[in-house]
Amino acid sequence: MTSKILIVEDTQKDFDSFQQTLVNEKFIIVRSSDGKNLFELMEKENPDLIILDLILPETDGFELCKIIRSEERFLNIPILFFSSSLNMDNKLLGLQLGASDFLSKDCDSRELIIKIKNLLRTKRLYDDVVRLSVVDSLTHVYNRRYFQHRLRDEFERARRYDRDFCCLIIDVDKFKEVNDTLGHPIGDKALKSIADILRSNIRTADILCRYGGDEFGLLLPETNFQRAYVTAERVRSKVEKINLATEEKPVFISLSCGISSLVEGGALGMEELVTQADVALYKAKKAGRNQISFYGRK
Ligand code: GH3
Ligand code: MG
Repeated sequence: MTSKILIVEDTQKDFDSFQQTLVNEKFIIVRSSDGKNLFELMEKENPDLIILDLILPETDGFELCKIIRSEERFLNIPILFFSSSLNMDNKLLGLQLGASDFLSKDCDSRELIIKIKNLLRTKRLYDDVVRLSVVDSLTHVYNRRYFQHRLRDEFERARRYDRDFCCLIIDVDKFKEVNDTLGHPIGDKALKSIADILRSNIRTADILCRYGGDEFGLLLPETNFQRAYVTAERVRSKVEKINLATEEKPVFISLSCGISSLVEGGALGMEELVTQADVALYKAKKAGRNQISFYGRK
């Protein structure tokens, strides 16, 4: 994927020369000429590297570096100070504020390219590690660790602002039989297909994870029972159409789903919200599977 570089540079001539240096490299370059609204720009552009000029009209590179590093979500983005006024004091201060590297504007252009590539490589490795630590390797949805982390945030937010918030626990029906009759690889394929269906039927703000073996967890912020049901039902009806058989006899799968709602169930903590969804799931299983149940409702 093409790396994106955000450069904060007020002098047009310096920016042109920077662009010229990188003209043969496949980078996307975005410029801010004053560093204003930097967070908005970073959120919009999601850069892989930030290059800061030290001296700017209304602020300076140090100030911007401090602001960027104060946000946890931007801690992994490398910052390169690129300035014509680099002395030891500036470097030491920059390092203290979290700069990754420095370069003088009169440097050899090859040095600039190498430094940029090195910083981007480190960023890519960091991103890979982060992704591996939060994503389930089989289904590529989030793992349970990430689910717990987001559950904490979303639960607190929903409780504080009195917002709708639903938790769904989804479990494949008689999945052990699928493995026993068709084999583990086909079972794995089924889990992937279910994850794909779930993923394509939720919104970007929803949080989907593989909760355990054949269990998925789904968090739906700003969603009431009714809308959570519509989502679950859409998924349920698509999953029951999956045919796992390779030849002759068709083999279908299904899933059961338990839904809890913070507003209606009144859970006092995030664990209780999940327990309520589990209770509802158990109800769905007991009632015959391939269905959706609510906690605290018929
Ligand atoms: P129930 O309807 O009560 O949920 O019945 P079940 O057979 O699905 O029971 P349960 O949910 O307890 O069984 C989970 C099964 O999921 C057991 C295990 O064989 C299977 N499983 C767990 N992880 C994986 C996996 O990564 N791949 C495959 N193929 N199967 C898995
Ligand atoms: Mg199961």
